[in-house]
Amino acid sequence: MTVPADHIVGSTGECQNYAANLTPAQLARWTKAQTAKEPVEVVTLAEAKKAEGSKASGKKTWIYTANNVRDFAWTSSRKFVWDAMPAYVEGKKVMCMSFYGKEAYGLYRPFSTKAVAHTIKTYSDFTIPYPYPVAQSVEAANGMEYPMICFNYGRTEKDGSYSEQSKYGMLGVIIHEVGHNFFPMIINSDERQWSWMDEGLNTFVEYLTEELYDNKFPSRRGPAWTITDYMKLDKSQLEPIMTNSENIIGFGPNAYSKPATGLNILRETIMGRELFDYAFKEYARRWAFKHPTPADLFRTMEDASAEDLDWFWRGWFYSTDVTDISLDSVKYAKADVNAVSPRFRDTTVRQSLARPQVNPFEDISKIRNREDKSITFLTDKDTSLRDFYWRYDRGIEAYDTTRYSVVIGASAEPLDEASKQKFANKHFYELNFSNKGGLVMPLIIEWTYKDGTKEIDRIPAQVWRLNEAKVTKFFMKDKEVASIKLDPLKETADINEGNNSWGSVAAEPSRFQLFKQKTSAARGQSVGVNPMQKAAEKKGF
Ligand SMILES: [Zn+2]
Repeated sequence: MTVPADHIVGSTGECQNYAANLTPAQLARWTKAQTAKEPVEVVTLAEAKKAEGSKASGKKTWIYTANNVRDFAWTSSRKFVWDAMPAYVEGKKVMCMSFYGKEAYGLYRPFSTKAVAHTIKTYSDFTIPYPYPVAQSVEAANGMEYPMICFNYGRTEKDGSYSEQSKYGMLGVIIHEVGHNFFPMIINSDERQWSWMDEGLNTFVEYLTEELYDNKFPSRRGPAWTITDYMKLDKSQLEPIMTNSENIIGFGPNAYSKPATGLNILRETIMGRELFDYAFKEYARRWAFKHPTPADLFRTMEDASAEDLDWFWRGWFYSTDVTDISLDSVKYAKADVNAVSPRFRDTTVRQSLARPQVNPFEDISKIRNREDKSITFLTDKDTSLRDFYWRYDRGIEAYDTTRYSVVIGASAEPLDEASKQKFANKHFYELNFSNKGGLVMPLIIEWTYKDGTKEIDRIPAQVWRLNEAKVTKFFMKDKEVASIKLDPLKETADINEGNNSWGSVAAEPSRFQLFKQKTSAARGQSVGVNPMQKAAEKKGF
């Protein structure tokens, strides 16, 4: 790239001629940055401010080389502050760098390069080791991704201060755009055909990376409850994730949030972290520098985990079904330990069970072929086949009634003392669920006992495998239950929590209402939307 002599260039690839383009002081700082623990300003704020004051007349040429890239991008400006520090991925050095104007200094200087380093390290853990020698974040009006270099928004107020939303919006976009190195720059899916394969998978790992940045990170996409407002829209506003990108109405929720949320539900609630992470990593390993299609993701996740997930792909990716599991009814019972089952209470019934009064074989013996004397059976033609069982009369008297009644008699006897003690104080609950939304999900049941303690039972989604519409589940509990709540941690994206409770559960405000109340109380005003975040949502990144 041949540019004005006072410009600083950042590009896909490794620069081959810094010595020809940097001042001796800058080159010395670049050398120092190679082993630094903190970002080093290769071009300082003072130098950047000074460079803005005039324009060079000469030109300089910056030379870069890059391997294994499907695209490249570059940036050039005299305004740039440039900082750099190394990160290590499996012992291999990656120079992490940022380029930004003085207007972004208060945000980029402390956060950008460290976010780049955190992103490539975290993504390397969840996918494959970052294979490139550099990773760069350039301050720009919006977010866009290329191999080894990406463009991200984020500026301070004029006085250098910044809002929480500006900070986390910037961190989110840097993590996201740097993350695109993996999806789709390396795991090279077709963005135009299946945007969700890069945006959705990238948004998912972005979420994991944000969660590992700090435990207060206000992630917008990933948690199951954040997708319900989209999923409860009228079906005319929804299309399956498996829809060509150009035919999608709600691009952000459909191609970014919903696939990311689906993967998060798989990881947290269906497969578990260890199994999911292994399978997802295997997908990245198999398809790095190749061209995966959706089936390659689905198939790899299944055969690497040995778990049948067809039902999940079908529901979450191929349909517009939603999660709406209803707890329809609860039956409560205590054991009557002194009772004898009515089936066995009177001896007539008992005997009738012990001794079938109708010979079950009688009818069979009357079927036409057996009465037809014109038929010659094989056992007539070859009498050597007539063994004991051929001669055996299967009539009623042949039953071993002694044995039969002993078996039944044992279960009809009153309980022994040990069993009585075991069951006397138990509480039995039969829970009836119906699937109103179409998607099957694990049943996550929170029991609140009358003594105020709580317990959660997790029933895998396979409970629906023989009947997707209704499920009945029986539980035996030590303590009496005051109330039951389905999906208490909001992890299945259930769009209707109104039918998730039984018993004395006070109506709780949704998360949104809690947020609103808290914010209003704190600021004495309604919730504002950061214009930058709003613009980013509108444009998508
Ligand atoms: Zn993106």
